[in-house]
Amino acid sequence: MPEKLIGDRLTSLQQIAKPCHHCEGKGYIELRDCSGEIQREENCSFCSGTGKIELEDKK
Ligand SMILES: [Zn+2]
Repeated sequence: MPEKLIGDRLTSLQQIAKPCHHCEGKGYIELRDCSGEIQREENCSFCSGTGKIELEDKK
């Protein structure tokens, strides 16, 4: 089934979204003061607040 094979290949080439390691997939960073209390939350600049990093699988 050639069509099936092509479909599988396209699927494997799609972008893969991984949880952002910087914000642990939350999409924001908790800024704490010296006592450890959360002062505010800021959008993660690594993933633009999505919590995911898209990687292109070039295999
Ligand atoms: Zn992030």
